[in-house]
Amino acid sequence: MATGVFSGNESRKHKGQCIDCGEILELYMLDLKKGRRILQCTRCGLYHFYKKDLLGKWKLAKAAKVPDLWR
Ligand SMILES: [Zn+2]
Repeated sequence: MATGVFSGNESRKHKGQCIDCGEILELYMLDLKKGRRILQCTRCGLYHFYKKDLLGKWKLAKAAKVPDLWR
């Protein structure tokens, strides 16, 4: 079942676009201790792995169809 419900809640939306289809990304997992987060495409479901750099900015590290590469 796809989770394509748009609630209009801006806090759930994070800036980012799918590198595959260009759709917006939704937060899937956030780990502030490790400086990592995973966003998921709301259309094709591709996971985007972000890493925090030294300046505190999120940078895309990789993208994959499975969400558990960083576990
Ligand atoms: Zn996509």
